[in-house]
Amino acid sequence: EGRENSQKHIAVFAFPFATHATPLLSLVRKLSQSAPDVKFCFFNTAQSNESLFSKDDDFERVKPCTVDSGLPEGYTFGGNPHEPVDYFLKATPGNYKKAVADTGLPFEGLVTDAFFWFSKEMADEMRVPWIPYFTAGPRPLLIHVDIDDIRTRLGINGPEDQTLEFLPGCSAIRAMDLPDGVVSGFLDSPFSRMLHKMGQMLPFASAVAINSFEEIDPIVVQTLKSRLPNLLNIGPFILRSPPPFSSDIHGCIDWLNQRPKASVAYICFGSVITPPPQELEALAEALEACQFPFLWSFRGKAEEMLPKGFLERTNDKGLIVPWAPQLKVLGHPSIGVFVTHCGWNSVTESIIGGVPMICRPFFAEQKLNQRTVEAVWGFGLAIEGGKFTKDGTMKALKVILSSEEGKLMREKVGVFKELAFKAVDSDGSSIKNFNFLVDFVTRR
Ligand code: UDP
Repeated sequence: EGRENSQKHIAVFAFPFATHATPLLSLVRKLSQSAPDVKFCFFNTAQSNESLFSKDDDFERVKPCTVDSGLPEGYTFGGNPHEPVDYFLKATPGNYKKAVADTGLPFEGLVTDAFFWFSKEMADEMRVPWIPYFTAGPRPLLIHVDIDDIRTRLGINGPEDQTLEFLPGCSAIRAMDLPDGVVSGFLDSPFSRMLHKMGQMLPFASAVAINSFEEIDPIVVQTLKSRLPNLLNIGPFILRSPPPFSSDIHGCIDWLNQRPKASVAYICFGSVITPPPQELEALAEALEACQFPFLWSFRGKAEEMLPKGFLERTNDKGLIVPWAPQLKVLGHPSIGVFVTHCGWNSVTESIIGGVPMICRPFFAEQKLNQRTVEAVWGFGLAIEGGKFTKDGTMKALKVILSSEEGKLMREKVGVFKELAFKAVDSDGSSIKNFNFLVDFVTRR
């Protein structure tokens, strides 16, 4: 069978944790719409694929394929979110190599989560292009690409307040804002080593796609373009491919409709994080004392984890739900502030909604996002002392919801909101970059 006449196959490698596989699948689905002659195989763990695909999906064009999760037989999740990641990384890249070989298909390209540096070697062996997708923002990407230089200049475990003024657009960033494993912490963990390798390999990719837009951070983006071939800012991708209209079963939007403009604190720490008990308690106490209305998307059992009687006492002020339609919530005019862990998707969605943030980062590049939001973009506050205390939280809520400073932050984030929508408008920068990517994927 001649290659010209046969269907083109592309292998996609997803990272099955936190909110990584979801944006990659959205990208692939959109690519598939623009490249109907290409078949995509979406390699991911069975569990993650189950949560992403539904029986109504078109498996012909985007097919879920299973890779081994690396979990021991009979494994039960004990509550430590790092544990399944460590098992998975031990099984990688062997699990992807095996799954690809098992299909027997002649793949003509690899589109992968940028984490998977080993894809470069695989692509070389297969003599096909490698297109990594970085699902976070441009500044963490630059940090990972420049990691060796940063380590040389700052030293390992050097003073925490040293700044990265040697890196364009990063003079406000301090050593303490960097992700764990860059200049301190677990430099040798499987996760840190993966990110280190990623930074070293990305310059050899065919193109690097990123879920961001050029205008969000022009100096950093310009610097990245000098480091990477074909840097393609194609976001905020959620605006191009909003989540399917899921019914708002917990009634968040109805509830928000009854609150005054810019009055509500929306609280959510992404898909995996629950803050430790003392902090949950402090946050709850602050909400109760401040009397601002709040909507809380809560992982875990709220009635057991929040202070006794809190739910009853705040019944008329607050709504606590197990999952919220976040993009829609943040776009609702009643939302006044987003209390967030600063995951990239959350930061992006807050910008799209034009909502200032109160930041309580936990891991990965969340601290770097917080610093960027607070000190570079100026539309958010780091929580005092880095952890929720009753006083610190009340102070931050009051600044954003009821001060002139808060109003100014809202104006500032509004400017970024406009830039975000422009980037995905008909001839916006992200559309042009996406078209380039489609061309890359369909080309032979
Ligand atoms: N999300 C949501 N409803 C919730 C909680 C989270 O829709 O109640 C979505 C949110 O809109 C975002 C993603 O889950 O797209 C969280 O991604 P992020 O990168 O912020 O955090 P992670 O889950 O990776 O820690």
